[in-house]
Amino acid sequence: MTRYIFITGGVVSSLGKGLMAASLAALLQARGFRVRIRKFDPYLNVDPGTMSPYQHGEVYVTDDGAETDLDLGHYERFTGVSARQSDNVTQGRVYQTIIQRERRGDYLGATVQVIPHVTDEIKAFATADTEDLDFVLCEIGGTVGDIESLPFMEAIRQLHNDLDRGQSIFVHVTLVPYIAAAGELKTKPTQRSVRDLTSLGIQPDILLCRCEHPLPDSERKKIALFCNVRPEAVIPALDASSIYAVPHQYHAEGLDNEVLRAFGIKDAPAPALARWDDIMDRQQNPEGEVTIGVVGKYVGLLDAYKSLHEALNHGGLANRVKVKVKWIDAELFEKGEDLVASLEPMHGILVPGGFGVRGSEGKIASVKFARERNVPFFGICLGMQMACIEGARNTAGIADASTTEFGETTEPVVGLITEWMSKEGLQKRTADTDLGGTMRLGAYPAKLAGNSVVAGVYGATEISERHRHRYEVNAGYREPLEKGGLIFSGMSPDGTLPEIVERPDHSWFVGVQFHPELKSKPFDPHPLFASFIEAAVKQSRLV
Ligand code: GLN
Repeated sequence: MTRYIFITGGVVSSLGKGLMAASLAALLQARGFRVRIRKFDPYLNVDPGTMSPYQHGEVYVTDDGAETDLDLGHYERFTGVSARQSDNVTQGRVYQTIIQRERRGDYLGATVQVIPHVTDEIKAFATADTEDLDFVLCEIGGTVGDIESLPFMEAIRQLHNDLDRGQSIFVHVTLVPYIAAAGELKTKPTQRSVRDLTSLGIQPDILLCRCEHPLPDSERKKIALFCNVRPEAVIPALDASSIYAVPHQYHAEGLDNEVLRAFGIKDAPAPALARWDDIMDRQQNPEGEVTIGVVGKYVGLLDAYKSLHEALNHGGLANRVKVKVKWIDAELFEKGEDLVASLEPMHGILVPGGFGVRGSEGKIASVKFARERNVPFFGICLGMQMACIEGARNTAGIADASTTEFGETTEPVVGLITEWMSKEGLQKRTADTDLGGTMRLGAYPAKLAGNSVVAGVYGATEISERHRHRYEVNAGYREPLEKGGLIFSGMSPDGTLPEIVERPDHSWFVGVQFHPELKSKPFDPHPLFASFIEAAVKQSRLV
């Protein structure tokens, strides 16, 4: 039987529901259960693909090519279960599906309404493809009381009724704020939030109370009494020292026990948490420290590079070092900031993915610095493209090298991808295609040259990585670039799309057209990040 855990949030946003869902799933998985986490986003965008990273954080890409909410990255990092298109739905997509159906006449003249049509669609999404699972955790974005999330609340209320008794539970995440002047934790916002939820017909089984100070027993009992839950089901969730400490912490507070109890499961094995112990041991006892400079555009909001930041940390875990990340705004180098002074203290330089011309000359200058000074360099997606333009300009004598993404150019070292093979057959694009959903997205294989640096790093010559790009390095420039020392060491299997470039004569210089950070996990660091940080450790011994 597949069981459902519906997770809602109250009081304020940003309580870390995604992390909570990921941690609970990890705990259930550690007890031998098969889990999957799904996210319902109440906004009207069809997917987050065209949303600014400033507003919404990074766009997480799945193997099957979906552009999803960044919470799916947490889910994957904590459980190792590859997220799929069917794990993230927005209200916009729900309405799009329904309206397309209505236009086709599928409703046979019926009035199309939120209840039952929208709620049915949401329920169908929650329950699709779940046969092989023990638990499906469904996280509802937003906060109880939002107008936008009402159809989702109604759908999970109905689903709870449709399912057998004991087949689904509600977990509500709230905030118990500390009022410094009174020296007290306040339970009223939690009470009101639960009242809002019960007015929608949802009685939570478990409350997860985020708090900055330990929750005294008296307050726990008070919340239980007023919110109609057992005191043991009021779980305090204090701020954790690291996100990877959260599963342990929730277990210690009894979260997974309470969940199993709410389902009436009595014979579950104790969770095997050795994997998390090892991560915490590596994190808490580093044997050194390296500083990585990330030269990008969205440096004001760390969520914009969530997976990248995590993958760098994982590289640190693999090498037992602490990774300090210095976020550097590439545009400042164009406005006169001293590049040498900024980059000299770095043990590694990374130019991440991005879109648009802003800051690009600063990024290209950073590549040049890394190349000339023999500092480990990692270019990801746009970062690889910048590495190729830098190579073309400064080592291949193509002074006007550029990308068509930045405007017309006589030397399109990087240009629009117009054709590529996907599982669905040949894909074609032109410059006028819509912005949304037109990129080369998701997992594609690549072949690596046997004697390359990257083949050694991967320990393989056939790999599969996730992509999200509209432009590509122009294979027509391979010869001059390789003469300049930049080797095309990974290509698409048909040999047309450059996937990896490297400089074998450099301490560590790799550019990749894909996003390896999306597949890195704390218990399974991505080999490229592990290797890059290893090179940075060597660099740190030199300076
Ligand atoms: N803007 C570049 C492209 O579309 C790079 C994209 C990226 O870095 N994700 O190809």
